[in-house]
Amino acid sequence: MLEIIDTHCHIDNAKFKEDRQEVLNHCQKLGVTRIVTPAVNRSGWNHLLSLCDSTKGLYPALGLHPMFCNDHSHNDINELETYLDKHKVIAIGEIGLDYYIKGFDKEDQAYYFEKQLGLAEKFQLPVILHVRKAHDPVIQLLRRFNLCGGIVHAYSGSKEQAEQYIKMDFKLGFGGVLTYPQSTRIHRLAKELPLSSIVLETDAPDMPVMDHKGERNSPEYIIDSLNALAQIREMAIENIAEITTLNAQDIFGEMKQVILHD
Ligand SMILES: [Zn+2]
Repeated sequence: MLEIIDTHCHIDNAKFKEDRQEVLNHCQKLGVTRIVTPAVNRSGWNHLLSLCDSTKGLYPALGLHPMFCNDHSHNDINELETYLDKHKVIAIGEIGLDYYIKGFDKEDQAYYFEKQLGLAEKFQLPVILHVRKAHDPVIQLLRRFNLCGGIVHAYSGSKEQAEQYIKMDFKLGFGGVLTYPQSTRIHRLAKELPLSSIVLETDAPDMPVMDHKGERNSPEYIIDSLNALAQIREMAIENIAEITTLNAQDIFGEMKQVILHD
């Protein structure tokens, strides 16, 4: 039986409101037994935590996403510290820099990112990074902190930048993009990078796989990305599943969940 970890899925998103439990039941049947759920803003933390607390296989990460920097306030950083003191989370995320979308102040983004890296260092938690068109400044910032690694979600940088992340104990997340034949640059990365540095993710409800283009993405579809990666690496699906699952555990630990309500 395959055992797969979706290392990045916004299952707390309102788009799963109607059928979340059905989706998760189907995931269990497919072997997608563990799902890491990163936060995007302060107002979502309580819902995310209670959902993860009451649902088997869901693991929370808390943080302030760079694309929502216009919603964040400086006090959210103090609040994050309080939450990290009180709650058991698997990582800080998702955090980072996004220079792709215009209109988000770079200094603002850097403020929240640096403060959260400081908390990751203090609490010795891995980080889940969102980085677009900003890998070099992110790599420079990461070097200033004593971190215990993390995941660069939806990796889109160069091979050289990937190697620098790997040196800092980071893994690179790949998802639905693997299923599009025209994504040749990402395919090449997924083929050439050491398999020990690759983890699978969906980013659901965003970034759908090819067969569900234009629809809501779902953690169920991580199987499509698994199949695509197996094909790219010319390896058996079972081996890819096993290795990427171990890679995720390298970052997040054993992921043994305390189930409060089963
Ligand atoms: Zn995300």
